[in-house]
Amino acid sequence: MKRRDRLLVWAAATDATFEPAALAGETVLVGKCIHCGRKLVVGFDGRARGRPATLEHLLPRAAGGADRLDNLAVACATCNHHKGVRTDDHWGSDPRARARVDAALARRMRRWRDPPQSWALPRLPRDAFPSKHALLGEHP
Ligand SMILES: [Zn+2]
Repeated sequence: MKRRDRLLVWAAATDATFEPAALAGETVLVGKCIHCGRKLVVGFDGRARGRPATLEHLLPRAAGGADRLDNLAVACATCNHHKGVRTDDHWGSDPRARARVDAALARRMRRWRDPPQSWALPRLPRDAFPSKHALLGEHP
């Protein structure tokens, strides 16, 4: 299983809006886009079902954002792409970009949940463990 797929499952599993549901004979996670709140479905195989769900770096990697769960969230492909254009290309020249990112990071932490151990989650890459500061709601 690819790192990106594993991280997408974990981003959903650690987001309290995502709950298990039965879909065509399999268990999937159904929850909400970090930005627009529209319904998204992620399988335990790390693949989206239905509308494209993508793994988003809330603070863009180009701006120093970590490839770590507290900086990762599930977002619609359209929300992710739109935000990427706004912040990646204009980072530093758009004072609202950082405010948007901070709001999304705070929303991610409000939605944080430690996933039940009974869930069949893939192995989380060691370097993707969230920082203690992030889990305490402290952002740099
Ligand atoms: Zn969205």
